[in-house]
Amino acid sequence: MAKTLRLILGDQLNSNHSWYTKTNADITYILLEVMQEQQYVMHHVQKIMAFFAAMRNFAHQLEKRGHQVIYVKLNDKDNQQDFEQNLKRLIDQQEIDRFEYQLPDEYRLDEQLKSICLSLSIETGFADTEHFLTGRSDVQNFFGDKKRFLMETFYRNMRNKLHILMNGEDPTGNRWNFDADNRKKYDNKVPLQDAITFDHDVSVLKGMIDKMGVKYFGNIDEKHLEWPLSRQEALKSLDYFCHHLLPHFGTYEDAMLQNHISLFHSRLSFVLNVKMLSPVEVITKVLNHYEQNQETITLAQVEGYIRQVIGWREFMRGIYWAHMPGYEEKNFFNHTTEMPHWFWGGNTKMNCLNKCIGQSLDHAWAHHIQRLMVIGNFALLAGINPDEVDAWYLGVYIDAIQWVEITNTRGMSQFADGGIISSKPYVASAAYINKMSDYCKHCYYDYKKKVGDRACPYNSLYWNFFDRNADQLKKNPRIGMAYMTLKKMKPEEKALLMEQAEKYLGDLNGL
Ligand code: FAD
Ligand code: SF4
Repeated sequence: MAKTLRLILGDQLNSNHSWYTKTNADITYILLEVMQEQQYVMHHVQKIMAFFAAMRNFAHQLEKRGHQVIYVKLNDKDNQQDFEQNLKRLIDQQEIDRFEYQLPDEYRLDEQLKSICLSLSIETGFADTEHFLTGRSDVQNFFGDKKRFLMETFYRNMRNKLHILMNGEDPTGNRWNFDADNRKKYDNKVPLQDAITFDHDVSVLKGMIDKMGVKYFGNIDEKHLEWPLSRQEALKSLDYFCHHLLPHFGTYEDAMLQNHISLFHSRLSFVLNVKMLSPVEVITKVLNHYEQNQETITLAQVEGYIRQVIGWREFMRGIYWAHMPGYEEKNFFNHTTEMPHWFWGGNTKMNCLNKCIGQSLDHAWAHHIQRLMVIGNFALLAGINPDEVDAWYLGVYIDAIQWVEITNTRGMSQFADGGIISSKPYVASAAYINKMSDYCKHCYYDYKKKVGDRACPYNSLYWNFFDRNADQLKKNPRIGMAYMTLKKMKPEEKALLMEQAEKYLGDLNGL
């Protein structure tokens, strides 16, 4: 066999990949810590630590299985700090005849690797990552030339195709969707569970990135990094989820609490996105656990979870490949406002944002509704430039990789794609945040007030958003009600609301 070099990217830690079924003295695997990946956006320090530590663990496991591995650390003296230069150096040094890689999930890296291959004078090839349930273009092919891709249609097709929670042609329980039973405010009816955490000392790694001058943000307890960093810990997290959190996952999936960051969420997104766990093993475990525990777990909880993994996750990936390049430039509302400085420190008087941003900075994680209906909702109402919103989300979350970050942020949360993903913008006033959380009880602002001293900013900004974007949104049948209400509003009442919104928009940093 030709002497082969195989590249493994930091989010390709799939130990069950067919590449590793046999050892072969002619094959060398390579993992690279490079500045290139620390600089395309500023990352949360926990994210950098988790990626590097997980990559190092993975390399070590491959070696233990008898594979040949080259691991280039960020501070190795020969490190050229980008993929191309490092690969070319090693191909020369090791007299490699063939270069292979696994298809990246990011457009940026896909293009870079294609271009590297074109510039090499040796044979090249690529393999699938053997991770996702669908191919890159399956979503596009499924919807054809339809303008809007509806997740629900795709999800039902996936359920059918994979025979998950199906009774012949019909969904188990005769319902596809249990949203009406789920999504309750937390009501103290069941005890809260702690999230599973681990305890990794990453101080040596942290010292290395500091010495190398890597720019980062966010907080870390470097002696006790809490994230799962190996396959063994990933499996433990999945097991913990099934036993302790799945029984109430769906019911409280949209609830938010200021003293409990994760409620019943699985926090498996990092290990899924770096491919330490596959979606197949996650759903298989969840379904088996449900089968064996039907007296304590309802169908609504399980369906709610399966929908996220085989529905939303695969769907977002398909949207990404259907719309890249170009998606990263979409700005439907032409929003240009600068992001307030408190996104980087959490110090705002708005308690919901203070807690959700604070939690994101402390843990590099927030759950879906905190990302969508508190932080994203505010960014959209305030008209923040989606480039800045994207950069923040891509940097801050431990699970943020462009294919899943940009579709959720620019698409679902900011409606910057003009409706490719959602049929209407996800915006809400304080009434929603108060309904789903306990943030408002502890806030400087009054969630009931629309105008005047201490009026909650979400209220006037909500109406200002619809008013200023009437040209783009008025005809949308799903938001007719908002425009009816605006139309019926007394002119003096509307003027006061708009005045209040303008005041807030004029001083976002002071909120
Ligand atoms: P759970 O609530 O336990 O859900 C289970 C799994 O389902 C998740 O681990 C995830 O893999 C998948 N999932 C759920 N919702 C989505 C979704 N909308 N899109 C794709 N997969 C989903 N998710 C990321 O993985 N990376 C991101 O960068 C990211 N950015 C987001 C930005 C915004 C503005 C929003 C609104 C959502 C974003 N999400 C992102 C989706 C979702 O918020 C996270 O996947 C979830 O919070 C991760 O926590 P969890 O593992 O506890 O999820
Ligand atoms: Fe957030 Fe407004 Fe509630 Fe304060 S009152 S927590 S700003 S929604």
